[in-house]
Amino acid sequence: MSIEINLSPSPPSSPVHASLPLQIGIVILGQWKTTKIPLEYLVLLLNQKQKLFEYQLVSIDEFKENFRKYFGKESDQDDLITSMVNGSKIKYGKLKLKHLVNDVACALKREIDHKYDLFDNTQNPAFFIFITTSKHIDVNFFQDDGSNGFCENNPCRGAIIMTGHHESSFAPPTVIEFIFKFIFRISIKWKYPNFTRKMRHFGQKSCLFDFNHDICFVRYLVLHNYICGGCRNILGNTICESITNALDSKNLYGTSIERHPAKISSDLGYNLSLVKGIYKSKYEMMREKISDSFFSKLGSLIAFSSMLGIFYLSDTNDYFLLGN
Ligand SMILES: [Zn+2]
Repeated sequence: MSIEINLSPSPPSSPVHASLPLQIGIVILGQWKTTKIPLEYLVLLLNQKQKLFEYQLVSIDEFKENFRKYFGKESDQDDLITSMVNGSKIKYGKLKLKHLVNDVACALKREIDHKYDLFDNTQNPAFFIFITTSKHIDVNFFQDDGSNGFCENNPCRGAIIMTGHHESSFAPPTVIEFIFKFIFRISIKWKYPNFTRKMRHFGQKSCLFDFNHDICFVRYLVLHNYICGGCRNILGNTICESITNALDSKNLYGTSIERHPAKISSDLGYNLSLVKGIYKSKYEMMREKISDSFFSKLGSLIAFSSMLGIFYLSDTNDYFLLGN
């Protein structure tokens, strides 16, 4: 007796995913060394923290040869891919880069749709964010979201975040926080293509959608978790709450690591409980260097006096500045 396997009704040829979050591919390239795995882990963590977007890790390794055939060896696209993979400097102007990133993203989409057509293609990424350790030749240029110059019917499918500028002097924030912020900023612009520059502001408010013409200001945008009244009016409270909840620093740090504004201010150079003037005095720098644990362990006036003695006897301003 044959066993009848009921295959009817036939599965829909095009499953309907009206409520599916926007699918976005994250392509991590460059020289991340030991940071790569934590970064991948944390990017996927974002899927649990909100429902607007779903992020998928995508590798371009298996497609690199096809890209080279498609674009041509030593073409600009080929050169950009090599730079992103190696984490070397990116030289293309902003407009040109935007189009090259879109070219690579569209090719990647085609390759994925073709190679994995046995799977549900509607869940393939529609857009791609390339995150690379490359630096742009313009020090103030570190990301392109691809939204300007394209339209809803012809969207730019690629964006790039370059982290090569992120040195220890830029922290806080950490490079991870920086990436998180820009992943959401880019994603929202893709989801709401009508939220164009004309609807956004020029001023620095530490809003997620600040126009940053100087990389120094980006720090505040990342450290604060804020979407301003103007942007909120357009995007709506539900979206904004969803994003600010996902970006809440407690998702990264929990409650075990001190991350309140006074601590951040201190890390940035101004200890709210110690510095009395505009700048740190030498004495205040010294006080800061002597950690609380030093006092609590040795806890004596003798220890403090001996440090004070060294400070004056050493006759050098740099002694207590080491490590600043
Ligand atoms: Zn705003």
